[in-house]
Amino acid sequence: MVAAAETVQPFGRRGVCPALSGPMRTGDGFLSRIAFEADISPREMVALCHLAERHGNGLIDITARGGVQFRGLTPDSAIALEKEVLALDLPLRHGLAIETSPLAGRDDTEIADARPLAAAIRREAGRLRLHEKLAAKMSVVIDGGGRLSLDGLLADIRLKAASLGGRTLWQLMLGGPQPKALRAGLIETHAAPDIVVSLLVHLAAQGPLARGRDLDVAATRSICGDRLLAGEIADELTDTSLPLGLMTTGEDRFAVGIAPAFGQLPASDLAKLCEQADALGIETLRPSPNHSLLLFGPSTVCRDLLAVAGETGVITAFGDARSSVAVCSGAPRCGSAFFATHELAAFAAEECPSLLDGSFTLHISGCGKGCAHPGPALLTFSGTAEGLAFSISGRAGDAPNGILPFQHCRTALSRLARLYEKEHKPGENAATFLVRLGTGVIGAALRQDD
Ligand code: SF4
Repeated sequence: MVAAAETVQPFGRRGVCPALSGPMRTGDGFLSRIAFEADISPREMVALCHLAERHGNGLIDITARGGVQFRGLTPDSAIALEKEVLALDLPLRHGLAIETSPLAGRDDTEIADARPLAAAIRREAGRLRLHEKLAAKMSVVIDGGGRLSLDGLLADIRLKAASLGGRTLWQLMLGGPQPKALRAGLIETHAAPDIVVSLLVHLAAQGPLARGRDLDVAATRSICGDRLLAGEIADELTDTSLPLGLMTTGEDRFAVGIAPAFGQLPASDLAKLCEQADALGIETLRPSPNHSLLLFGPSTVCRDLLAVAGETGVITAFGDARSSVAVCSGAPRCGSAFFATHELAAFAAEECPSLLDGSFTLHISGCGKGCAHPGPALLTFSGTAEGLAFSISGRAGDAPNGILPFQHCRTALSRLARLYEKEHKPGENAATFLVRLGTGVIGAALRQDD
């Protein structure tokens, strides 16, 4: 339980993770986050929406890792929220973050169902109370493959299923998103829980700052012994990291994937959509990676819901320019913001869809903290006291490549989009085009140099 106001984490401290029992101070009050280990019902989501309105500022975030965030809390309302969320008796994740695809076990394209492994690791890690000793943001991803890619999620320890000669093995990877992770070797399914727990125990013994990226192959081999098999399996491309539209999840079982524009929506809108989903016959739902929401039910129900959702303004299909923008709350919701981030993001999606073709993420940040996209992005705009800083392939807080007056930011974006429309080669996407242009030309276009 939240004990007192002073237990909330100080705003701006890196490495902390907001939780129901440990809300974090942000620029728009306190922030609490919950995550689920199983589906919940539409009615349960409606109840959460009502709590967001009663105790917070009425906005709900679906996070990049599929969590649900309540914003705008006070220390007292955070305590009340925790009590009322716990009373709903939802399948909340407690302790260490051990994540699987929300489609695990119901995806006919997956290599293996990751849930039994995740459950075994969760049980043992819970018994050893490892979450009390490990870094607050420690995460384990168990990826059985399938439609929904978890490759972009940061993971201290990642197991990725691979099919080899008719049997399933798990590639052990350490640190980072998958493309940057260290490949440490292969593991048999029966040995996987023990190995992951051994690595976690080792990290816990190093103290709360130790992370998966601190492990090298030699250290991993000495921890795992001969349970770690030599070898590496080539990455297979997974369909998508953003589940949108209609997808099958079994015989006459379907899912509808939707995403709130810019990862956030008024709780009243989400409640209304979930009430409609419930009335139509949607059985369960799950907040999912990449700021999305999966709703499950029979095919006709899912088709009906997709039509309804399309009318509410949430993203229901690929190719929506809003999916290419990572944007934080910004002004007026966040007291640290230097400008209205959502206004610029909406302008970009409306006026520059050719540039936002899904090939890169445009990061728009109200300040240098970069809440919406902690890693580098090909193009980042971030508010500063001097104006709108832009960085090419940088983070929000990095030394910028230039600073624009706030009143020029729309024109600057439009100019870059028109440049792409005019100058790109046949078939060249926006990311390739921007990389070809290079920092100097992009900067000149944004600054409107002649
Ligand atoms: S990045 Fe955005 S949400 Fe985070 S503190 Fe800065 S302005 Fe606020």
